[in-house]
Amino acid sequence: MGFSTTAIHAGNEPDAATGAVSVPIYQTSTYAQEGLGKHKGFEYARTQNPTRLALEKNIAALENARFGFAFASGMSAIDAALKLVKGGDHVILGDNTYGGTFRLFNRILTNYGVEFDLVNTSDLDQVESAFRDNTKMVFVETPTNPVMTVTDLKGVSEIAHARGAKVVCDNTFMSPYFQRPLDLGVDVVVHSTTKYLNGHSDSVGGFVALNDEGDAEWIKFVQNSLGAILSPFDSFLVLRGTKTLAVRMEAHDRNGRIVANFLTEHPSVKTVHYPGLVSHPQHELAKRQQSGFGGMLSFETGSLENAKNVLENVKLCTLGESLGGVETLISHPATMTHASVPVENRARLGITDGLVRISVGIEDVQDIIEDLDQALG
Ligand code: PLP
Repeated sequence: MGFSTTAIHAGNEPDAATGAVSVPIYQTSTYAQEGLGKHKGFEYARTQNPTRLALEKNIAALENARFGFAFASGMSAIDAALKLVKGGDHVILGDNTYGGTFRLFNRILTNYGVEFDLVNTSDLDQVESAFRDNTKMVFVETPTNPVMTVTDLKGVSEIAHARGAKVVCDNTFMSPYFQRPLDLGVDVVVHSTTKYLNGHSDSVGGFVALNDEGDAEWIKFVQNSLGAILSPFDSFLVLRGTKTLAVRMEAHDRNGRIVANFLTEHPSVKTVHYPGLVSHPQHELAKRQQSGFGGMLSFETGSLENAKNVLENVKLCTLGESLGGVETLISHPATMTHASVPVENRARLGITDGLVRISVGIEDVQDIIEDLDQALG
């Protein structure tokens, strides 16, 4: 079955009770039981909910995963995936993950004895030499946020598996439409469904998708034990969002390429980070591993003042955090999404004060370009 057919039909069977074509919002905390131990598979809504279950089947199918679990946010999904390691274990963490992921390791997991090293996972030699006897996981984000560095998922998976470690990939930027990490050997995929999967900037959620039955049992146990579940209403919204994922991603990709080329040629722009540009250092890898380049890019204006000018002069593009919605969002990683990353790490990664990130939306691209042009003016 093609991607769009799966997106529209997986988990979306007509409602058994009424025939409703759209999966209803089952806004209930509990379910009537017919007798002791006799029920329809639903006992308590933290544990099971039909709307959430439909979404879990849907996104699992899109990621080509056997199992999927929907969480209250991307961060709670990432937290659940990290419950696959224990105190005393070591994790190789991509050095340019979302700031919140770094903060989770740096400020919380270390309190529970989880060790980690920040590694440039786009360099497989660095990944290989970061392994220790107690390394149990490699956590990568590709392309990275916001400088769009690409990691070879197949290569990292081979290295990790040869040493008995699992690989977790945050696939938020590409979505399963452009990249399916499990097919490349990755063990666990995590998402912030807040972004492309929902796609309309009106829900916060997260997802874990995986194939290993034992690990899936554990994630399910963690989800039920900690209770960071996606609500029925948010599950409904994301399920509605994924139906148009393919058409939206095609439009983000089309506009992303045009905006990246426009910025490359603009005299006020120093550099553009976009894997779709032939000048991008991992362009060939991105072409091989992804089936598109998407709508995320960042560019260097040279100074905080220049960045501020652009960010405060845009009219159509909205200044704000987050990404992946239909509307173009523009942000300043150093003071917004990556403020929790130490200054010296930001400098090393190229997250300068002059860097501006754009989540290119699906408006008419000429309008986006005209807006950026006048703001860069
Ligand atoms: N992963 C990536 C790549 C993100 O950009 C974000 C949020 O911006 C997250 C995870 C966290 O997701 P959430 O905000 O849904 O908790």
